[in-house]
Amino acid sequence: MTVATAPPDVPFADPDVSIVRLHGEACYWCGAAHATLTPAGSVATPVVGGGVRIWFIVACPEHQARRPR
Ligand SMILES: [Zn+2]
Repeated sequence: MTVATAPPDVPFADPDVSIVRLHGEACYWCGAAHATLTPAGSVATPVVGGGVRIWFIVACPEHQARRPR
């Protein structure tokens, strides 16, 4: 979803992060795609022209306790 400003509890994603990690198809931290992936919160990215996009990310078992900040 695209919103005008990021909610205060949604951190910005690393600008170099892979798109598959933003799409929730791979662990946000290590890129594992063939592990059991669980929801791990959300991150925001800037949208060209203004506003931000919110992404719901996932984590592998090794990183499931980690949250973006
Ligand atoms: Zn991982």
